[in-house]
Amino acid sequence: MMSENCLFCKIIRGEIPSKKIYEDDDVFAFYDIEPQAPVHFLVVPKHHIPTLMDMQPCDSEIMGKLLYRAQVLAKELGLEESGARFVFNCKAEAGQTVFHIHLHVLGGRQMGWPPYPPENH
Ligand code: 5GP
Ligand code: ZN
Repeated sequence: MMSENCLFCKIIRGEIPSKKIYEDDDVFAFYDIEPQAPVHFLVVPKHHIPTLMDMQPCDSEIMGKLLYRAQVLAKELGLEESGARFVFNCKAEAGQTVFHIHLHVLGGRQMGWPPYPPENH
């Protein structure tokens, strides 16, 4: 199922251009338009699911494929030795701004933790 007005569904359909990295029947991967690391790409299911908390039992297989593909692409893009950050922001407070599930893959620089400014501890 596609969602008419969803930004990432439009990218998957090719209505909005993106720097595509990978595509198969279930999964689509493309570079983030505002990279936060030397390597920063997004892996999405082609099927429109708004947030991780909307995942249904029938979505398990596609989400497994998404996770599998994310780590294959991370390795292909040179992150096998250094590692990478794999992130789902889920809903607004966690930082989600596009409501079509996407796994961020970031690498090529030292990452911080925790993921909020120290003064907010
Ligand atoms: P979120 O904040 O929802 O976890 O992540 C959304 C991500 O999508 C952000 O990192 C943002 O830079 C990226 N993004 C937003 N609009 C576009 C776009 O039109 N093209 C691409 N490639 N990335 C986008
Ligand atoms: Zn969508």
